[in-house]
Amino acid sequence: MEIHTNIPLKNFTTMKLGGNARFMTEVRTPEEAVAAFRNAKAQSLPVFILGGGSNVIAQDAGFNGLIIRMRIPGFEVINDDLNSTTIKVGAGEDWDAVVKRTVDMRLSGIEAMSAIPGTAGAAPVQNVGAYGQEIADVLESLIAYDTQTDNFVTLLNEACEFSYRQSIFRSSQIGRYIIVSITIKLSKNLPQPPFYEALQTYLDQHDVHIFTQEIIRNAVIDIRTNKLPDPKLLPNTGSFFKNAIVEDWQLTDLKANFPDIPTYDMGDGRFKVPTGWLIEQSGLKGKVLHGIKIHDKNSLVLINQSASGYRDLANARDEIIDAVRNKFKIQIEQEPLEI
Ligand code: NAP
Repeated sequence: MEIHTNIPLKNFTTMKLGGNARFMTEVRTPEEAVAAFRNAKAQSLPVFILGGGSNVIAQDAGFNGLIIRMRIPGFEVINDDLNSTTIKVGAGEDWDAVVKRTVDMRLSGIEAMSAIPGTAGAAPVQNVGAYGQEIADVLESLIAYDTQTDNFVTLLNEACEFSYRQSIFRSSQIGRYIIVSITIKLSKNLPQPPFYEALQTYLDQHDVHIFTQEIIRNAVIDIRTNKLPDPKLLPNTGSFFKNAIVEDWQLTDLKANFPDIPTYDMGDGRFKVPTGWLIEQSGLKGKVLHGIKIHDKNSLVLINQSASGYRDLANARDEIIDAVRNKFKIQIEQEPLEI
């Protein structure tokens, strides 16, 4: 295993800022991942697992430990019947490449999750989802190295305790598991309307009435490329803030003061409020704060235009959070993890 030292994290994160990692290594098998972890543990070094770096912010001080770059490959059909195909995918596979392969196989279940950056192993961590689909709907199980018991474990879907953009991997069991593969079960049926509102609107506008996995994938890619800046040209982490969730009593107040506020019923007494709308209504759309631009097509996205480092981003973030809280009394939260 090759271990590199003093590696600039800005070269491995799409926001392109932050200090150095003291050590970094790449792992291509589950056994290599375990060896890297044990090596760091023997030296009492903290470990961080890095996938595509598209949902991670590096602080200016850098990371005084070992970054393990997850590169485990794999795409294996492990079951195939009349209605469905089950596939085991290596944690280091590029998520969108996986979506494309399954769409080419005419399988349904993740086609609306097209063009999401990052690796397959990162998808369960925040229960990634988009346009009405989420990984929790298709994930049968995953294999992870349990750093507490020093064993590989198979976690079934229920054990991951998925909820809206949440799982045990970023709440109760944060840092405990290194996911090495995921197993997803996809359907052989064609995608069925009605689709998620924004997607349905796009399909109606483009007069699309035949729905295949490929048509849905292409529609989502088109919607996303129009709303999201290309990180290769404009450094960003996609949505920088989580969509807000409010209780029904808060909603009554909000509706009284802001009758146009868009809300979506989550069916459990809570409502989603698009954070992009809150930021836009706070007058920040297209503004530049400390070298960080609030994207003019989607206020949920922050672009590193000319920030001198993490501090600038943190200052911009805090000013945006304050502006939204002052106007709406809603505390919005950052989505990407920090190292
Ligand atoms: P958007 O479509 O503008 O939606 C903003 C918010 O409104 C989200 O909370 C969304 O819920 C909700 N919403 C919109 N239409 C809805 C409907 N018909 N029914 C229920 N809720 C609705 O969001 P965006 O930022 O451009 O993102 C597009 C899609 O990508 C969304 O599905 C979003 O969740 C997803 N996304 C996921 C991640 C992630 O997994 N970390 C990051 C960025 C964006 P939903 O979130 O339930 O869709």
